[in-house]
Amino acid sequence: MITKTKETTTLENGVEMPLLGLGTYLAEPGEVEGAIQSALEIGYRSIDTATLYQNEESIGNALKEASVSREDIFLTSKVWNSDQGYDNTLKAFDHSLQKLGTDYLDLYLIHWPVKGKFIDTWKALEKLYDEERVRAIGVSNFLVHHLEKLMEKSEVKPMVNQVEFHPRLVQKDLMLFCIEHNIQQEAWSPIMKGRVNDIAILKELAEKHHKTPAQIVLRWDIQHGIVTIPKSVHRERIQENFNIFDFELSEDEMAKIDMLDQHDRIGPDPDHVNF
Ligand code: NDP
Repeated sequence: MITKTKETTTLENGVEMPLLGLGTYLAEPGEVEGAIQSALEIGYRSIDTATLYQNEESIGNALKEASVSREDIFLTSKVWNSDQGYDNTLKAFDHSLQKLGTDYLDLYLIHWPVKGKFIDTWKALEKLYDEERVRAIGVSNFLVHHLEKLMEKSEVKPMVNQVEFHPRLVQKDLMLFCIEHNIQQEAWSPIMKGRVNDIAILKELAEKHHKTPAQIVLRWDIQHGIVTIPKSVHRERIQENFNIFDFELSEDEMAKIDMLDQHDRIGPDPDHVNF
């Protein structure tokens, strides 16, 4: 557990990844540019996107205009399900780079564990990593059994697993597996799309720390050593979600939040996806 303020985590291969980044799912072209600009001004240095989000080009444009240089930004994208398989993944990566206006990614992820395909997809990611076109490779929405299967067949271990993670969905088995294998866990929908603001215990803790429930939960993520990527296109919320490095939750408070787990998903179950 991280008990002091620390803003990055070190991946298995030594690459530093910010513990807090900006999510961009449903951040539309036309609004995502402003969100990126605000986030960079506020101090964010990590941006999460995916081919699925159809905003890579807008993000590329925003990065071109930004006063922060490319090498100071940690940029993540993901290969979509219909692009999986060895050759298609290599093509999808090239498209993402082109749209983002960059010649490398900091992190490239397999978006979902598509049955019968994710091993070949991983081989393509290994090649991209080998060729130094991406600084780190990983997966998303992988459960323990997916990770075990992948690790059995791969030369490079996934460095990151980005999964749904919030106080109502903890998946302790997955969390412990990732810790044991030095796979950095990353949380999507970390503030339950804003719904954490309705949970009584989080409201109490927020009042005590003069913070908001969203800030309490994001702090809980980073104290667990979990990378978190709340999405917002509003400057005040982008700022709010960033202000989590100036306070600390006690062990008791961390445990109280852990106990809110109800194995309750917002998104699809990785074992039952059909898209
Ligand atoms: P989040 O939990 O980050 O919630 C985002 C929603 O909450 C938006 O509607 C936003 O609205 C609102 N919001 C943001 N900040 C606050 C706040 N402080 N108080 C109240 N409401 C707030 O959900 P996401 O699903 O967007 O997950 C985060 C990111 O994770 C995604 O954007 C994406 O990058 C990634 N992701 C990855 C997935 C995967 O399969 N790998 C799946 C889903 C997400 P507004 O913008 O209007 O401020």
